[in-house]
Amino acid sequence: MRTLGLTITTEIFEKMRESLFATAPDEGAGYLLCKEYSCFDPWRKEKARRFIVVDFVPISPEDVVSRSHTSITWRTNSFVQALNSAESQGCKLAIVHSHPNGPAGFSQQDDGNESMLWSICRNRRGRSVEFLSVVLTGDNKIRGRIIRGKQAFDDIELTKVIGNRYLIDYPGRGEVEPEDIFDRQTRLLGREFTADMRALRFGVVGCGGTGSPLAHMLARQGAGHVLLIDKDRLDRTGSHRVHLTTLKDAIANAYKVAVISREIRRIGLKTQVAMVQEWVSATDAFEALKSCDIIFGCTDDNHGRIIINRFAYFYMTPVFDMGLKIKPSKEKPGVFDAFDGRVTIVQPGTACLLCRGVVNPQRASEEQLQRSQPDEYQRRKDEAYIIGGGDPNPVVVNFTTETACMALNELINRLTPLRIEGKNPDQITRKFDRLDGDQYRGEDNTGCRICDNRDFWGLADVDPALYLTA
Ligand SMILES: [Zn+2]
Ligand SMILES: [Zn+2]
Repeated sequence: MRTLGLTITTEIFEKMRESLFATAPDEGAGYLLCKEYSCFDPWRKEKARRFIVVDFVPISPEDVVSRSHTSITWRTNSFVQALNSAESQGCKLAIVHSHPNGPAGFSQQDDGNESMLWSICRNRRGRSVEFLSVVLTGDNKIRGRIIRGKQAFDDIELTKVIGNRYLIDYPGRGEVEPEDIFDRQTRLLGREFTADMRALRFGVVGCGGTGSPLAHMLARQGAGHVLLIDKDRLDRTGSHRVHLTTLKDAIANAYKVAVISREIRRIGLKTQVAMVQEWVSATDAFEALKSCDIIFGCTDDNHGRIIINRFAYFYMTPVFDMGLKIKPSKEKPGVFDAFDGRVTIVQPGTACLLCRGVVNPQRASEEQLQRSQPDEYQRRKDEAYIIGGGDPNPVVVNFTTETACMALNELINRLTPLRIEGKNPDQITRKFDRLDGDQYRGEDNTGCRICDNRDFWGLADVDPALYLTA
């Protein structure tokens, strides 16, 4: 089974970095505790797995046997203890060491040492034993692999460090010539950007007014893997705002994901599109979402948002949630109670959509009810127990498209900073009825049972999924 990714938070990464480079230019080493989970790779159509780093443990100096500019060795007893301790905590063990002056990758010496460690494990635990190995260079190149036999190594396809900025790395990064077709983009965003877009796996939840321009632009930026999730079919009233679709598609009542993926392929920029015609809560959609590196929340469905909101913390996967809210004032014509395009970046360390009042939990359960028991929903609606379900708010294509652009601006700024230092907020709101400039801020999330609960960070698979009972 392939290993698609390893994710680390900036917080753990910094702790690891400080410890590993304390003895530079000599190498340093330590352990990472990793949570493993399986997923379904919708592009290759096969099961795959991922790892999340949940802690770093330094190796105590007395356990180090030798260290130099090019190698480090430590007592095997300490390794075996760490392996057992990781397993007792439901984790896989990774050894991590530094290459202060490179190379970005594993040396022959590493191959030898790790094969030896594997043999020791096999003698005690049998042939199926495996562990991970991670190497970090002085200039922040980070690579990982699985050791599953003597001289048998499987590369981890992509490693990412998530925080206020994203650091991503994968075998071959920076070694290939940038694709000339993207030359004008490379001039601004650098030679690695398009390669990074090719390597990352993007999930787009919701393919309507914001999701369709977002998926479209991802393809034009060179995204290699885009997963579209939406259960809805096109209808005539959506034609004016869903990019890449025609009125003919709408009259035919085609699935949004089918039409958008067909058109993205037609663009010809080598984007592999995968799709799931389901709500995000459905098992197929959820398993495919677990294979993604970055998720765009483009749904206006509260229940879907509750799921991706928790997902961001349980699976340590950044969610760029966006929404457009246009509410004309009932009292004063021409004045708006709200006229906002919003992007919120949800990930460990930032306030979630519940804290920010973006999701309405009561509406979420109503939507659930409407889908699972339409008769009961109607009965409650007739008795006026239902708060939502009134007239739809207005939507206009330029505002939904601009909101999608805002989300991509934030992604770019985390991958390849363009803005001045310190302007990298977790939420941006653009007030379309004013020319005040964007509003951005953090949010106090003290006591939030989702995002202020570190026990949830990187918990991955639990039963029921995401500890959601309804
Ligand atoms: Zn090494
Ligand atoms: Zn919260």
